[in-house]
Amino acid sequence: TAAVNDPAPARAAVKGPAPARRRGRTAVVLLTADLRVHDHPPLRAACGAADEVVPVFVRDPAVDRAGFTAPNRLAFLADCLADLDRSLRERGGRLVVRTGDTVAETCRIAREADADEVHTAAGCTGFARARETRLRRALEEDGRRLYVHDGVDSVVPPGDVVPQGSDHFAVFTPYFRRWSERPVRAPLPAPRTVRVPEDLRSDPLPSRADVPGVSAGLAAGGETEARRRLRSWTSRHLGAYEDRHDVLDDRAGDGTSRLSPYLHFGALSPVELVHRVRAGRAGEEAGPGAAAFVRQVCWRDFHRQVLAARPDAVREDYRPRHDRWRRGDEAEADLRAWREGRTGYPLVDAGMRQLAHEGWMHNRARLVTASFLTKTLYVDWREGARHFLALLADGDVAENQLNWQWVAGTGTDTRPNRVLNPVRQALRHDPDGTYVRRWVPELAGLAGPAVHEPWRLKGPDRAAYDYPDPLVGLDDGLARFRQARGTD
Ligand code: FAD
Repeated sequence: TAAVNDPAPARAAVKGPAPARRRGRTAVVLLTADLRVHDHPPLRAACGAADEVVPVFVRDPAVDRAGFTAPNRLAFLADCLADLDRSLRERGGRLVVRTGDTVAETCRIAREADADEVHTAAGCTGFARARETRLRRALEEDGRRLYVHDGVDSVVPPGDVVPQGSDHFAVFTPYFRRWSERPVRAPLPAPRTVRVPEDLRSDPLPSRADVPGVSAGLAAGGETEARRRLRSWTSRHLGAYEDRHDVLDDRAGDGTSRLSPYLHFGALSPVELVHRVRAGRAGEEAGPGAAAFVRQVCWRDFHRQVLAARPDAVREDYRPRHDRWRRGDEAEADLRAWREGRTGYPLVDAGMRQLAHEGWMHNRARLVTASFLTKTLYVDWREGARHFLALLADGDVAENQLNWQWVAGTGTDTRPNRVLNPVRQALRHDPDGTYVRRWVPELAGLAGPAVHEPWRLKGPDRAAYDYPDPLVGLDDGLARFRQARGTD
């Protein structure tokens, strides 16, 4: 039972007698991680079904309690909400913000607005799904209907592409093959007008300036910025993505799109992103850069379908390897040095400092720093994931936890015991040492690739650099890991 004019399939709608029509129809759109007006199935459906629409965002303390918020994401969220409010005002409406339990506040707004129906996007986490169930029940008790729209937060909804005999794909490549064969629905235009009832109260919009502890180099949030970035990056850099996405010093070239925080908050639709990228420039075929980029976007969907099927993977090993992670004072000290970017391995330290400064880290550096923590230091992936979530603007439960598990070998990697050597990785992906010199300025005097191995300097040459010795030798770390995993 999809709503009239519903352009996207809405699942799990509550059946029941439609409430009597009074003063035309009103619909509520509960926004969560879909902070945009373009390609927004719930918003389009609501605008199609009702004369008046209430776009609402609820600041829910339960999200904080679950450990999902952090200063960088709160600041980025504030930008996204302000931008969304501006876009809605340009269309004659506005954003309504409330604070409290999402279910209670949504029901309250539906009552205040005398709305017949509520539209929202499906989430992939256990947290989002439990909230959806509660909301459906509460609305039903009030005689209202909930429409949950798929395909808002991912290109292919979790569960739509499954292997025979299982509820999800546990390996990426076969998933990617099936995912690529699926037609992608056409992106929806933004509604031209959004009429919002006048008498509804809204809390003030949060402001980035009010959030303490934000990283100095955090990017600006919001749909307008996302679309600007999408246009400029795809026109200038997409073509080189296949060759450049692993180059660490992306200052000049913007080797990767840096769109991840916008995707996390839904300021950009993944469906529209894939369409735009595949379409290429007018008159041009989408080349290998576009293909490589779309493959990365598929990783995002892949993790979402794993988490939807295995919500426990937020905390539990997806595939237990019977690790006895190092604990105690020494491990704590190593963890602290890793967090602070003082491991004595320049590439690892550069990544950790980029994370602290920007609330973002290059994917190659994420792989190296995570491998170093879990395999060289043999510290629990949950510790690393927690630190990343405390800082990343794109910090996303599905992508963060499952990427961490992939690196730690407890996830979906088919080679769970591979260990990335931070020196070899540095020589390959930062051959000139530019990335390291930028983020580890105390080594800026070391020219070329020598910056990756400061321990090779002797005597006064070494003493000239105020930089720590390596926490552990790479061979020692490897031997410890192999013994612990029983792969000697
Ligand atoms: P691009 O290279 O431009 O890629 C385009 C988009 O594809 C990205 O924006 C992202 O949405 C998606 N993508 C690319 N690589 C991956 C990947 N490995 N997994 C899932 N999606 C991918 N990504 C997050 O969005 N949130 C996280 O919390 C997160 N935590 C990570 C933790 C670890 C330990 C590792 C190794 C990776 C993590 N990633 C996470 C994946 C990846 O590093 C980022 O998505 C990427 O660096 C974002 O930069 P970009 O937008 O320039 O990527």
